Amino acid sequence: MAILISSGVSSVEEKLKVLGMASSYDVCAPPSTEKLKGKLPGIYYAWSSGGRVPLLKTLFTNGCSRDCSYCAFSALVDAPRHSFRVEELVSLFLQLFKKGLVQGLFLSSAIPCHPDDTMEKMVEVARRLKEGEGFKGYIHLKILPGTSPDLARKASRFASRVSINLEAPTENALKAIAPSKSLKGEILPIVTSLKVGFTTQFVVGVGGGRDLHFLKAVEALKKRYGLKRAYFQAFQPVAGTPLENHFPGSRERQLRLYQGEFLVRCYGFSAHELVDSQGDLPRHLDPKTHWALTNPQHFPVDLEKATYYQLLRVPGIGPRLARRLLALRARGELSLLHLEKAGINLRKSGPFFTIRGKRVVKGIPLQGRLELELE
Ligand code: SF4
Repeated sequence: MAILISSGVSSVEEKLKVLGMASSYDVCAPPSTEKLKGKLPGIYYAWSSGGRVPLLKTLFTNGCSRDCSYCAFSALVDAPRHSFRVEELVSLFLQLFKKGLVQGLFLSSAIPCHPDDTMEKMVEVARRLKEGEGFKGYIHLKILPGTSPDLARKASRFASRVSINLEAPTENALKAIAPSKSLKGEILPIVTSLKVGFTTQFVVGVGGGRDLHFLKAVEALKKRYGLKRAYFQAFQPVAGTPLENHFPGSRERQLRLYQGEFLVRCYGFSAHELVDSQGDLPRHLDPKTHWALTNPQHFPVDLEKATYYQLLRVPGIGPRLARRLLALRARGELSLLHLEKAGINLRKSGPFFTIRGKRVVKGIPLQGRLELELE
């Protein structure tokens, strides 16, 4: 079913107001780091390793033929529909870029007819910016479900980063909230043919799926297809949708999933290690500390001998600190002074390691309550 979009009558400013605000449903950074910039619709700050980056973040169109029951733009919702034209969006972006208001573009879209029709236009925006205008900055393209693999690969050539939303971790969970979407039929074929790293997004708290299912999906996508990052959106009911009376997803669960995702993707944990017998992450404590407290047989680790991945299992030690500790060890500098200079938090990490077989912090970690005493 194609949907009618009245695109000709709206001004570019009106379209940006609607389509820029609409893009807030697509996540380009964890909730704590993505911010809408005051008065200008569609301009968001995202944090990267290089600092704060203003992005023009917008949908190409909010007209959609799909029936996702959580979405404000589904064909089930009666709402005004708008669409940019390729030349409008290119020109708008360049104006904002030249004024120094944005440094990059994050472009997503609803799906008014065949996904390739809209995806072609989104790729054309990126192509014109890169090849026609010589823009060298960040362009993120959302690959629409059902896009043909060839077109998805073409998108990845003009984009700095591509993403494709799985929305749910299993086919059944996806069908429950998006009956016309299919993981096997139209999302995984893109993932398997992309050949470049990508990010994805899940809706949490509606449609089913334990934390284990989300983390296993992350595990498989990282291992087989180079997933760069997964984002989690706690479900928020939208008025006028079939799920308007469903209770919102838990922010606490969203936070734990972000933490669990890091542990699976970057720290060498398996999804199964982190969840309880029901398949859920702990809610009262971060999953790594919880794992350390419930697996005392792995501690203390000796800083003189521990591998990189053993260090990563110590609460408070992440990849950067683990590398610093290995460098200190190589130089024979594992004194308390050196450790503190390197940034170790003795209160948090101390109970879980020794140096040359000797504890630097006394006390047995129990249920997160530690009696500490520096030696
Ligand atoms: S495909 Fe689904 S989630 Fe995407 S805009 Fe359409 S209805 Fe919304």
